[in-house]
This record gives sequence, C-alpha cells and structure tokens, in this order.
Amino acid sequence: MNMMKKLSMDQLCEVIDLFRPCMDDYLYIFDITKDYFYISSNAMDRFALPANCFYDVTTNFKQFVYGEDYDPLMEDLQQIASGHKLEHNLVYRWLNPDGKPVWINCRGQLITREDTPCYLIGCINEIGRIQKADNVSGLLMSSSNLIKLLDTDSDWLPEGYLLRIGIDDFKEVNEHLGIEYGDMLLGKVASAIQACLSDDQMVFRIVSDEFLVTDLTGGTIEDGISLYKRIRQKIDELIADNHYEAVFTISGGILSTQDITELKYSSVMKLSEFALSLAKRRGKNMCCVYNAEDYQSFRKRLDLTRSLRRAINNNFDGFEMYYQPIFEPKSNHLHGAEALMRFKDEELGMVSPVEFIPILEETGLIIPVGHWALHQSLSACKKFQDMVPDFHMNINLSYVQVQKCDISHEILSAVIEHGLRPTDVVIELTESGSLESNPRLSKFWEKLTHRGVHLALDDFGTGYSNFHYLYDLKPDIIKIDRSFTSKALQNEYEYNLLSLMSDMVRSMQLQICVEGIETQEELTRIQQISPTYIQGYFYGRPCPYGEFVQKYIQQAV
Ligand code: C2E
Ligand code: MG
Ligand code: MG
Repeated sequence: MNMMKKLSMDQLCEVIDLFRPCMDDYLYIFDITKDYFYISSNAMDRFALPANCFYDVTTNFKQFVYGEDYDPLMEDLQQIASGHKLEHNLVYRWLNPDGKPVWINCRGQLITREDTPCYLIGCINEIGRIQKADNVSGLLMSSSNLIKLLDTDSDWLPEGYLLRIGIDDFKEVNEHLGIEYGDMLLGKVASAIQACLSDDQMVFRIVSDEFLVTDLTGGTIEDGISLYKRIRQKIDELIADNHYEAVFTISGGILSTQDITELKYSSVMKLSEFALSLAKRRGKNMCCVYNAEDYQSFRKRLDLTRSLRRAINNNFDGFEMYYQPIFEPKSNHLHGAEALMRFKDEELGMVSPVEFIPILEETGLIIPVGHWALHQSLSACKKFQDMVPDFHMNINLSYVQVQKCDISHEILSAVIEHGLRPTDVVIELTESGSLESNPRLSKFWEKLTHRGVHLALDDFGTGYSNFHYLYDLKPDIIKIDRSFTSKALQNEYEYNLLSLMSDMVRSMQLQICVEGIETQEELTRIQQISPTYIQGYFYGRPCPYGEFVQKYIQQAV
C-alpha cells in the first residue's frame, strides 16, 4: 500500500489498464480530492456507465446506480471522503445498459496522504456472477456459457441440432441413495455424455438432472438419434461398472435448428424441454424429436386449460349442462335424462367434452366443475319432476372425483338439498383400468347403493370390458357404448355377441341401456334384444334445459 501511495493518479490508472485483460472483475480508483472516477474499461460493456472515467461522481453515479441504493452508497462514500471510514465494502446494485439491476460487491481501501483522504482504490465483483463451470457435473460448460453461445444477436442460424438429455426419475436416486450420491452420479453421467461427443459438440448442464448437447456444425436429426443411443449405451456401461447400485434410464429430446427461427436461449430451452417431456410422457428411456404440430396441440391444450380455469373462477361462465332423453322403448315412456356437460369459449368456440373432461381430470379441476354440474343437474331434475314425477337424472362421475373427494357424501347431501329421492338419481361411472381393485371405489359404491342411489356402468363394451366388474361392482344398469352398438348393427357376429351379453346381464337382474340409436331401423333391430332403456339421437340429441322442457317434458305430461 505504501508503494501505491507514491504513485500518481495517471500511474494508478495505468495499473488498472494493465490488469484489465486478466480479470473478469472491475478495478477502479476514485480520486477523492479531484472528484474523479476511473474504472476498468470492460465495465463499459456491462453497466450503464457514461464513460470509464468521469468527474462529478455524485451526479454521474445517479445514472447507473439502482435508485434505492444511491443514498446508502453516497453516505458510505461520504464517510470515506471525510476519513471516518477507511474501508468501503458495500453490496448494492448497478444498472446494466438495458436498465436492469445487477448485484455487485464493491470493496475498496482508502489511501491517505499526509492524513488527508486521497484515493479509494478497489474492485467490483458481480455477486450473481455468471458461473463458468459446474462443480457438480464437473463440466466446464454451464448454462451461462450456453446463453453466451446461443444469444449472439446474429441472424445467421447454423445447421445442426440440440439434444436435451434428462435422467429419468432422478428424484428416486436422491431419495434412496442420498443427495451426495446423486451429485456423484451427475458427474459420472456428464462424463459419459462427454465421452460420446466429437470435438465440435458441446455439453452443458442446464438444470439439476438435465443436460444439453449442442451440435451446430451440420449434424442431422438422425445423427442426434444415434448420439442419444450411444449415450444410453454408455450409461448402461456406467450402471454396470457401478455394480448396479443405481439403475436408471435417460430420455432425450431432439430439436433441429431447422425447427427454430432464431437461435435464442429462451426458445431453445422451451422447445427442447417440450421434446424431452414428450419422451418422458411416452414412457421414458426413449428419445423424441421436436415436431411443430405436436407443439401446437400442446399449446392449444394449455390455452384450453387456461380458459377452463378462467371460466371456473368466473362463476362457471361458459359451462352449461345439456340433457339427453332416455326412453323405455317398450312403452315409449320418458324415463329420464343423462346430464352432459358443454363448454363454450369465446375464442375456441364449442369444445367437446371428449377434449375438455380429460383436462379437467388431469388438473383436478373436475372437482369444482363436477360439484357445479351435480347441483345444476339435480336442480334441473327437481324442476322436471314437477311435471314428470318419476323423472330420473343420470350424472356422469369421473374416477378422479371418487379418488380425490368425499363424493358419495357430496351426492347424498345434494340429493337432500334439492328435495329429491336417492332413487331418482343414477350415477354413471366409466369402466376403466383405474377403477380396478380400488378400495375407495368399493366404499363409495357401497355407500351410495345402501342409500338407494342407482349406479350405471358406462361405456360398456369399450376398452376395459371385463365381466368381473359386473360381479365386483354390482351396478344396477349397464350402458352399452355407441361404438359397440354400431358394430352390432353392422356385423352379425357382434350382434350375436351383444344379444348373448344382454341375456347374461339380464339373468343377473341388471338393466341395460343401449346408447347411440340414431334411426328407426336401428331401433327396430335393437329392440329384439329387449333393452330396458334406449338413449340416442333417434329419441333426441342432448340439448339445453329450456329446449329439453319444450321438447320432452311438456310432451310427456
Ligand atoms: P357418455 O357418458 O358415454 O355420454 C354419451 C355420449 O354419447 C354423449 O356425448 C352423447 O352426446 C353421445 N350420444 C348419445 N347418443 C348418440 C347418438 O345417437 N349418436 C352419436 N353419434 N352420439 C350419441 P358427449 O356429450 O359428447 O359426451 C362425451 C363423453 O364426455 C361422455 O360420454 C362422458 O364420458 C363425458 N362427459 C360428458 N359430460 C360429463 C360430465 O358432466 N362429467 C363427466 N365426468 N364426464 C362427462
Ligand atoms: Mg355417460
Ligand atoms: Mg356412455
């Protein structure tokens, strides 16, 4: 420090310039007596500085010090300038050229001459400093380098691909073997990936268990797929070398540079993440190539989800219950209706329940919407009963409602609240794999049947048809799905099958409702198997409350 004291301001500035090429930090000197500030010229690229040297510190600092931090900084500098403080050590924010705050730690030493404060000499470090290496994976390339590589502001789009690799179920490795083991494994995976790369390919760790390989020198999608396969093989070797302590797989998402309009970090991250998540959703341990069509339908689904959520929060505005009549074909008597949900969005228009019900189920939104639908339908049923006293209302229930809420209680209270008898209500549940051996389901089923609510097994004849359901669940009604009905109407073999099945179902004292009858001809043919109920366009399409009253209730009175 003594030697420094002897140097002139110009010489000190020269020292700063000398060190500039060897440092990422910013050396500075503040000449207190002349009110002059000098900083390494590299600070000019990073901060909104007027120049790398200037007089009138108080005014000029205002331009690039974050508003809130200006006064505390000036106070500290004042104490130094007055000799009350010998050291400056402050964490605060400077602004970058875009006006965004950047956290810095500014440290400095006061140099006095003949007891008069003369210079403040020091260094500025960025605290949120861009990380250049990743100690966990052992990779020199971290996401900050990737940002630098991609966000070049250049219009030129190189040919090549990006391969995003994610370790499948890495959480389980951490849970079972500990975080330290997980970190060690990440390092090994990174080395395995690196070992498969050529000199012009690079790998970056982007998030905890995900890596991005860049090939911007002409690699094709096929090259990307074979690279993924090579890496997977290398990982298998790694697992064996590790004595199978952790057995895991990797998934991959490939994005060709031809599928992007600009090489921006944010868009590469978004689209490569989509490709990887597709591979994970399709079963993991595989790789998927980004496809604009898939992405569009994914975006559409997101828009629809947003729209459904908005509607729910807006007092279910956009949802409406439609009612489709169910008739007893022998007597032509109106037995009741099935309540079917509709959703209309201002931009998307009318959306089919086949599209939106699965989204409501996946997001859990079926719980509030199901609650709303239950009350709407039961309230409508009560009003229909004012004119047709033995009217029944069929309500569709999702297995998610069975699993996630006390739906039997909800149904029974709603029945009482709307002044109905439990026997007026039929709950329709779709046959599905998720219903199998579910203890909640049997409890729910028991509670409702015990109180007299009828239960219908919906969509019978599709997918999971299993006669054990009939025995295990003991429903009151079997609803034959339209797809089965159509096949039976076109094909003799299917017709015989349907006929035999109805005999069997009847012998079990269960009722049958055939869905999807559209014409008189179809009705005549289906009547030969003597179904208890018929539902289909022949009798009527689902329609809103008012129309239903007009078309069916008033006719039945
Ligand atoms: P689902 O419960 O099997 O309902 C019968 C479907 O068949 C309805 O389709 C109905 O419009 C249609 N359908 C009835 N007769 C005919 C016919 O003669 N020809 C043709 N082509 N179609 C006919 P929708 O309304 O589009 O509903 C589709 C599915 O969405 C329903 O199948 C049900 O699984 C589900 N869904 C509808 N509303 C609700 C609801 O409120 N809650 C739940 N959880 N699911 C619902
Ligand atoms: Mg149904
Ligand atoms: Mg059905």
